[in-house]
Amino acid sequence: MLIDTHAHLASQQFSGDLPEVVKNATEAGVTRIISIGTDLEDSQRNIEIAEQFDQVYATVGIHPTSVHEVESDDWLSDIREWTAHPKVLAIGEIGLDYFHPPRDGSSPAAWRELQIRFFRAQLDLATELKLPVIIHQRDKNGIHDCRNDLLEIISDYQGKIRAVFHCFIGPLEQAQPFLDQGHLVSFTGIATFSSAKELQQTTQDIKTGQFMLETDSPYLAPSPFRGKRCEPAYTRLTAEHIAKGRDISLEELARQTSATAEDFFGLPAM
Ligand SMILES: [Zn+2]
Repeated sequence: MLIDTHAHLASQQFSGDLPEVVKNATEAGVTRIISIGTDLEDSQRNIEIAEQFDQVYATVGIHPTSVHEVESDDWLSDIREWTAHPKVLAIGEIGLDYFHPPRDGSSPAAWRELQIRFFRAQLDLATELKLPVIIHQRDKNGIHDCRNDLLEIISDYQGKIRAVFHCFIGPLEQAQPFLDQGHLVSFTGIATFSSAKELQQTTQDIKTGQFMLETDSPYLAPSPFRGKRCEPAYTRLTAEHIAKGRDISLEELARQTSATAEDFFGLPAM
C-alpha cells in the first residue's frame, strides 16, 4: 500500500530491532521501504539490509556532510559497481548542505566547493546510468543559501536526470522551478506538526504525481511521536494527515503516491 521512500535503516538506532521495525511497517500498511545511503560504509550496509528483507530497497551515495570523510580515490567506481545490484534503485542522498559549519575545518567557500564537486560527480554518474537521484538541501537562512546553487546545478542536467527533493518543507513557489523541470518532492512527518502551516498548504496545493511520502527515519517522527525515534510505520500517520488536508481517503492517497514512487524508482506496481 504505502511506500516509505526515504528511511535510514542502516542507522545505529535500528541495530537492535530492525526485523521488528520492518514488521511494524508492514503491519501499518507500509509495504515497501527505500533505505537511503549517506556514505560508502552506510551504502554497503543498506545493500545488505535490502538483501535481508524482501520489502526493503536501497540507494547509494555520499551525503554532502560526509564528503570530507571519503578517503579513497575509487569512491565513484565503488558507487558505480553497487548500482548494478538488483535492489539498488537510485543514487542518493546527495546534494548541498550549507547549514552545518564546514566539517573538515576548511573555509565555508572551500567546503561548498567540495560539496559541489561530489554532487556534480554523482549527478554525472546518474546521468550515465539513467538512475533517479535523491537530493538533500539545507540552507543557512540567508547567509549563503544553497537554493540558488542547487537550481543552477540541477538546471545543467535538465532532461537528463530525474530528482526528488526530499524532506521538502517550503512553500509551493519554492518547489515550482524544480517541479517544472519534472522533478518531485517528498514530505516527512514535519507535515503533521501543528506549527507547519505553510508546509501543510503546500501538501494541499501540490499536484498529484509531483510528490511522494517518506519518514527520514530515525529522524523527524510525526505527531504524536515528535522527538522520539521515527520508524517507517509512521509513514501512515503522515499519509493520514495529508489525505485529510487533500480531502481524499488514505487508500486513494496511498494509491497515488505509490504510483508516483513506482514510476520514479522503476519499481513494479503492487
Ligand atoms: Zn535522509
